[in-house]
Amino acid sequence: MADQSTKKRIAIFGSTGSIGTQALEVIRANADLFEVEILTAQTNDELLITQALEYKPNAVVIGDDGRYQKVKEALSSTDIKVFAGEAALEEVAEFDTYDMMLAGIVGFAGLKPTLKAVEKGKAVGLANKETLVVAGDIVMQKAIEKRVPVIPVDSEHSAIFQCLIGEARNPIEKIILTASGGPFLGKKPNFLVNVKRDHALQHPNWSMGAKISIDSATLMNKGLEMIEAKWLFNLRPDQIEVVIHPQSIIHSMVQFEDGSIKAQMGLPDMKLPIQYAMAFPGRIKNDFPRLNFKKYPALNFEEPDVKTFRNLALAMEALNKAGNMPCVLNAANEIAVWAFLRNRIGFLDMTALVEKTMENVTFIEKPTLQEYFESDAEARNFAASLINL
Ligand code: NAD
Ligand code: MG
Repeated sequence: MADQSTKKRIAIFGSTGSIGTQALEVIRANADLFEVEILTAQTNDELLITQALEYKPNAVVIGDDGRYQKVKEALSSTDIKVFAGEAALEEVAEFDTYDMMLAGIVGFAGLKPTLKAVEKGKAVGLANKETLVVAGDIVMQKAIEKRVPVIPVDSEHSAIFQCLIGEARNPIEKIILTASGGPFLGKKPNFLVNVKRDHALQHPNWSMGAKISIDSATLMNKGLEMIEAKWLFNLRPDQIEVVIHPQSIIHSMVQFEDGSIKAQMGLPDMKLPIQYAMAFPGRIKNDFPRLNFKKYPALNFEEPDVKTFRNLALAMEALNKAGNMPCVLNAANEIAVWAFLRNRIGFLDMTALVEKTMENVTFIEKPTLQEYFESDAEARNFAASLINL
């Protein structure tokens, strides 16, 4: 058993979310390998307090300032440091006292703290795909400069990462990202136009946070993942293929120059890619249910229907156009999903909103970090104005 000093100290950003809570389960089951150094949450103060009392981190951040007093008082009998507000996320990301950031914040909000961790030379287990969608060039360049491993947590990218072990000298011909197709696979616009939030939140294979569940229903998630893959694995857009695979058993594949394809498989369970990223380069024994092929007599594959699920086509357009276009796509999509979750716009309106925003925001070919922030703000304002938010 490892002693105290050799445990990997994990900073979980977004600890109250779907990824964050599963990461804590992995830590609980492997207390000899990991300890919690930082926990952060935006609004769920109750859960943050419970987590802090169990895992005894050095510091916690509650994003919403108004909840600071409550968290501070609840933890007053401990020596856990309590911070609040957006800027505090960046401050704690700069701490020397952790080894790896588990980036589990959802959306653009994850970018600044994750970039701080990379600048500080910290390993990152990356769930927050929006960080790479928005500013993948800057984040990966910094990671190379600082020799920081960015280990994907997203299941498809974890699959590709695992397929690439031992293949450093072998060029990739293409990657094949699998997509479940979401809850509306096979449906047409006349059905989608009436889809409501609660139905869209029900994913057939995965239980996830609200935003990514909606992104999975619209296929925007797969588009964001194409852009994420471009930066993680240094690929051209034409090397990234999407195939619908409703069983979610093959998590993704890599095809090499000799035509050989490697796949990584397993039951759909995010704890696996989470623990893989935390333990990399090792693997940890666990008691998760095992895949029984006899229960899956057929694995199916089909072309994505980008005429119906136009968000995927828009994301491919942004991937090809590059520059600030993925950042604009992401910002408009965050507004669209936010509005859809509050029943302010319909399912198909989300696509229209993203498309119009992409047409209107100023294109920048090689943005600076500051210009990414400005593009994000411009796109949000434009998208919000279209729906009178
Ligand atoms: P979630 O909504 O369940 O949790 C989000 C977490 O981020 C919460 O802890 C919340 O407090 C925090 N947060 C939300 N807004 C914030 C803000 N403005 N500032 C700071 N913190 C904020 O989301 P999730 O499903 O866990 O997803 C997290 C990330 O992981 C997303 O980028 C998602 O795309 C990615 N991801 C998730 C899954 C999954 O199975 N859930 C799979 C692959 C990738
Ligand atoms: Mg994924």
